[in-house]
Amino acid sequence: MSDREAEMIGELLPPDRLMLTPGPSCVDPRVNRAMAAPLVGHMDPWFTGMMDDVQTLLRSVFQTQNHITFPISASGSGGIEAAVMNPLEAGDECIVCVNGAFSERMAIIAERIPAKVIRVEAPYGRTVDPADVIRAGKGRKIKFVGLTHGETSSGVVHRIEDYRKAADELGALLVVDAVATLAGVPLDVAGQHIDICFSGSQKAISAPPGMAPITVNARVEELMRARKEPVRSWYFDLTPAMNYWGKERLYHHTPPITLIYGMREALRCVVEEGLEARWERHLHNQQALIAGLEAMGLELFVSNPADRLVTVTAVNIPAGIEDGKVRRQLLDEFNIEIAGGLGPVKGKIWRIGLMGYSSQKSNVLLFLAALEKTLLDQGFRVPAGAGEAAAIHCYQQAAQPAAVGARK
Ligand SMILES: *Cc1c(COP(=O)(O)O)cnc(C)c1O
Repeated sequence: MSDREAEMIGELLPPDRLMLTPGPSCVDPRVNRAMAAPLVGHMDPWFTGMMDDVQTLLRSVFQTQNHITFPISASGSGGIEAAVMNPLEAGDECIVCVNGAFSERMAIIAERIPAKVIRVEAPYGRTVDPADVIRAGKGRKIKFVGLTHGETSSGVVHRIEDYRKAADELGALLVVDAVATLAGVPLDVAGQHIDICFSGSQKAISAPPGMAPITVNARVEELMRARKEPVRSWYFDLTPAMNYWGKERLYHHTPPITLIYGMREALRCVVEEGLEARWERHLHNQQALIAGLEAMGLELFVSNPADRLVTVTAVNIPAGIEDGKVRRQLLDEFNIEIAGGLGPVKGKIWRIGLMGYSSQKSNVLLFLAALEKTLLDQGFRVPAGAGEAAAIHCYQQAAQPAAVGARK
């Protein structure tokens, strides 16, 4: 590159987007402010003290007292790697409930151990039948049942209790991918007896992407101590990582210090709001969104209302409407990003995320209006104002707290 070319590279000015995607979600300005704080070293006693805060907050959000609870320096997929690689040894058998792209990812990772992976499947938009899990594992030595709590690729949620029972019948651990659900959907690691649970920083926790909080219970710790061979991944081996996050503070790798600042503040926001209030907010905003979409004549992809994931709403793209054109117009004209489908539902559904800081009444009303305008421009006949009217009606049914971030 010439000096002239280098000079031409201007200041970084990202657009001011409203992310209504299945992640990353928008970040509270408090989180951005925390990340603007000066960098310190990862062995600095001030920083190691701050790490304790993050672990305390994480235990509170996961609802557990598990010793091994910390954010892995990786995106949510790194959480899957760690959750799968630590309990499994080569040749072990496990069951993975597969009903979409992220649960499929868990199965693929387990196969690379290499472990024998039994996939218990359901089509996109449906839950996996826990009875099928029991049938598939009967008479076998199953190390764990892997479950994606909220399958983001199709907008489906699983009832954890049913899979806990199935895992108990098989004498197996329960591994739960809570990337799309932690801090947005009811989840209780201790109360629901989840053995390994992990999440991602950029979804309902509403911190930037790049961290995967994980927690494992004493039963798993025991299993890890009894391993015959080392964990196949050096980076995702939880035992040395915990020597850094635990009392010893032994160097393992350099963590993303700035992201940990952001995570600390995002978790403070969660605890300040309260888990119950936060779950309620997510549910309420999705109900208003759904009322609006249906009033506009759109159809939800997940037909059984009980199976719908509160944080991500999948809606069928109406016949004759072009996926890419609508999403592009939403972005160019309204600065709003939503997601399309993955794999078999690519071009068939839109996925609208209402997670963390993005889950707000004002965002729901703005999005419905923007979608209406866009669909009208693309030739879809929408009764003007119908979506907003239905959402407003929905909001009027219950007393609602002030806007997120409103100063008291
Ligand atoms: C987003 C997501 C992941 C992957 O997270 P990345 O941060 O993109 O690696 C895994 N599982 C679920 C359920 C997700 O929603």
